[in-house]
Amino acid sequence: MSIAGGIDEAPLRGEAVGCKVIQIFTKSSNQWKARELGEEEIERFKTNGENAGISSVIAHDSYLINLASPNDELRKKSFHAFLDEMDRCRRLGIRYLVMHPGSHTGAGEKEGIKTISDQFNELLHLSDGWKVDITLETTAGQGTNLGYKFEHLAAIMDKVKKKDRLKVCFDTCHTFAAGYNIATEEGYTETMAQFDSLIGLDKLVAFHINDSKKGLGSRVDRHEHLGKGTLGEAPFRFIMNDPRFVNIPKILETPKGKEMEEDRINLAFLRNLVKG
Ligand code: MN
Ligand code: MN
Ligand code: ZN
Repeated sequence: MSIAGGIDEAPLRGEAVGCKVIQIFTKSSNQWKARELGEEEIERFKTNGENAGISSVIAHDSYLINLASPNDELRKKSFHAFLDEMDRCRRLGIRYLVMHPGSHTGAGEKEGIKTISDQFNELLHLSDGWKVDITLETTAGQGTNLGYKFEHLAAIMDKVKKKDRLKVCFDTCHTFAAGYNIATEEGYTETMAQFDSLIGLDKLVAFHINDSKKGLGSRVDRHEHLGKGTLGEAPFRFIMNDPRFVNIPKILETPKGKEMEEDRINLAFLRNLVKG
């Protein structure tokens, strides 16, 4: 949900289209600079969320941040920006800060994974005691993006000392584009079994529910309205009726206009898939 006009506006937008959970950026997603959050805005955000019946708010980090960068300047800039986003989440009472692990930009996957883990260890040391968990998103694997294999996320977690502060968000579009065929029942079952054995389903705290414009294994990240892309209806039916995921927040990241009519349509599509 957009935070135009103030962070406190986002829960009201969620309520307007009938959301029970929302995701926000805590600052502009394509700028390094962040406007300082005021105490009153924070209080209004919390009150609006309660009054709107929003049970969970998830944050997504800025797209500029790359904690895997081999470039010292960009990595340090990313580190400070991410720590600031963690602090904004702490003040807003947001538990999960979803992020893309990062791009190694030529340094190689192994090196990138080590770099990210080092950053996390330092971030989690500096934020000791904060009720904010770094939530790694499964990615499509565009360019040199890491996180398109469950093994990447497992390897990162393995190197982090405070493992209880790391969680995972499963993006349906990304995971499919990365090559996991969740569009068939067999593939869905196998994908979730792999997730469980490599990462652990207890680490899963959110879904990003998106259809995909591009195909299985395309490694291209392009979201499509539910049922209108290469995923079709099946994977959403599997997720919505999987008893393991009943209480996991499910977030739409599909395109929308100012009136948010697309959100109403996609929400209805999803809710109609629930059996019984
Ligand atoms: Mn994302
Ligand atoms: Mn996503
Ligand atoms: Zn995406």
